[in-house]
Amino acid sequence: MAKAALVTGSNSGIGLAIARQLAAAGYDIALNSFTDRADDHALAEEIAAETGVRVIYLAADMSKPAECRALVERAHDAFGRLDVLVNNAGIQFVAPVEEFPEERWDAIIAINLSSAFHTSAKAIPLMKAAGEGRIVNIASAHGLRASPFKSAYVAAKHGIVGFTKTVALELAGSGITCNAICPGFVRTPLVEKQIDDLAATHSHLRKEEVVRDIVLQKQPSKQFVTVEQIGGTAVFLCSDAAAQITGTTISVDGGWTAQ
Ligand code: NAD
Repeated sequence: MAKAALVTGSNSGIGLAIARQLAAAGYDIALNSFTDRADDHALAEEIAAETGVRVIYLAADMSKPAECRALVERAHDAFGRLDVLVNNAGIQFVAPVEEFPEERWDAIIAINLSSAFHTSAKAIPLMKAAGEGRIVNIASAHGLRASPFKSAYVAAKHGIVGFTKTVALELAGSGITCNAICPGFVRTPLVEKQIDDLAATHSHLRKEEVVRDIVLQKQPSKQFVTVEQIGGTAVFLCSDAAAQITGTTISVDGGWTAQ
């Protein structure tokens, strides 16, 4: 029986690339987002047709604790096992602290941080019963460094790094590992929106100048990380070679956090 993986927030960007690469590596896949469109289910069929593994799409809102927990059960029920949990769902909002809308703060903490607590709490007993498992949390360079105007995001991502270390210690020696990947800037819809917002604020700059001089200013390579590079890192963390890697962060950030 093929191993099975659940990737939260995987109908777009990094989560989708991780799902595609885990499928290519032979895992059955549960895709997720909060929407329930024909496109979401078509995506599952497309990946299944490309790779030959089973792929299902499960709608669940990661801002809601009960839906996070039920999602893990639904994925486990569908495949009869759950070997890999990737906590990837995330959103961004940029504003000074004193203007930061309370509702945006709560949503970012719920989706980017608390959802991983709820899914992990549900997945760990299943993985313990199986004697092995992998939890991969998608943190960020902002889990290790701060930037102004991203208070909720930076707090949530630092939080997920701390959560990762704690879970790893609780599970050490159990066959289950828990690690965080910390990407630098990856050109997904989440970042594209920030580029558009910055281009609107700095209207004297061309979009390529906004990308080079503002967005990639923190990333010494001056190149975006690709979603495939994050997908490959996740597959590595799920491999036997990574069995003793636990409670750590892997930066894929073009040198950002070396500074
Ligand atoms: P994205 O917007 O392409 O993907 C975000 C995914 O999360 C989408 O599938 C979206 O549908 C899903 N999502 C959002 N709210 C949800 C909810 N309430 N319930 C379920 N799913 C929900 O962005 P991305 O860049 O691929 O981001 C993926 C993860 O990578 C996030 O955790 C993000 O913080 C992290 N990250 C991104 C970058 C980057 O530069 N793009 C850098 C570091 C970390």
